[in-house]
Amino acid sequence: MWDHVSDQGMYKTEICNKWLEVGWCSYGSRCQFAHGMEELRYVLRHPRYKTELCRMVAAGGKCSYAHRCHFRHTLTKEEKAKHFPEATDGC
Ligand SMILES: [Zn+2]
Ligand SMILES: [Zn+2]
Repeated sequence: MWDHVSDQGMYKTEICNKWLEVGWCSYGSRCQFAHGMEELRYVLRHPRYKTELCRMVAAGGKCSYAHRCHFRHTLTKEEKAKHFPEATDGC
């Protein structure tokens, strides 16, 4: 159930702190963090980025990756009804 995490990892999903602070980073292109918005946007362009519902959230649990998760944490009305029918009674 963790395959969505190990598949894509944390690679360049966040701006490099070092790069942000001093404008350069000794890891260069090997750095696992993004050096600038171009690199960050490459990740955001991932076709499935946040289009599929996170399985942790779908299972009613909490995803420890929070905003760094590649999957969607917001449920649509339909998904709420499907996954948590007891939470949508009446409305
Ligand atoms: Zn870096
Ligand atoms: Zn998640």
